[in-house]
Amino acid sequence: MDAAKMGSDLERVLITNDEMQQRLKEIAKQVDADFAGRSILMVGVLKGAVMVMADLSRHLQSDVEMDWMAVSSYGSGTKSSGVVRILKDLDSDVHERHVLLAEDIIDSGLTLAWLKENLEARGAASVTIVTALRKPDALKVPVEVGYVGFDIPNEFVVGYGLDYAGKYRNLDCVGTLAPHVYGGDDV
Ligand code: 5GP
Repeated sequence: MDAAKMGSDLERVLITNDEMQQRLKEIAKQVDADFAGRSILMVGVLKGAVMVMADLSRHLQSDVEMDWMAVSSYGSGTKSSGVVRILKDLDSDVHERHVLLAEDIIDSGLTLAWLKENLEARGAASVTIVTALRKPDALKVPVEVGYVGFDIPNEFVVGYGLDYAGKYRNLDCVGTLAPHVYGGDDV
């Protein structure tokens, strides 16, 4: 779905699909250089990381295996608390693997901080985070991130894998929602 199809539901486009693809191509070049000669286990966090997994992996020239985790963060409303429950675990053994952990967005950083520690505790040789988006002003815990697509303002965004009430994940750009979509409440 493109921005035009969303009409007045979309307040403003922050990152176009062309900009995202261009940035992911640059990141892929860096990843290929940094992981030279090593096989990569890309781990995507469902469901938001589907787009970045699909696009980034296709720009990579390295050998890549892909696996998926689904987690839920305990917390109130849209705020995560850092207490994470695994809903779907990896099929692969990460022991001694070089893991590229892919996320749609880093907000508080709590989810990724937990995930990184969890994968390291399983004996991964390395865990490097790649995220399409990051909100630097929302960070609550320091998270060492290998590659960032774009830093964005501390606003609720949809598209490129990110949803609001299950919708808009297939929007090809990243944008903010018009207040009438969510009733004008803070989300
Ligand atoms: P964190 O643990 O970093 O606070 O939470 C990250 C998760 O919160 C993301 O994977 C995403 O599911 C959700 N999230 C954080 N910010 C946004 C946002 O602006 N829009 C949407 N749709 N989800 C978000």
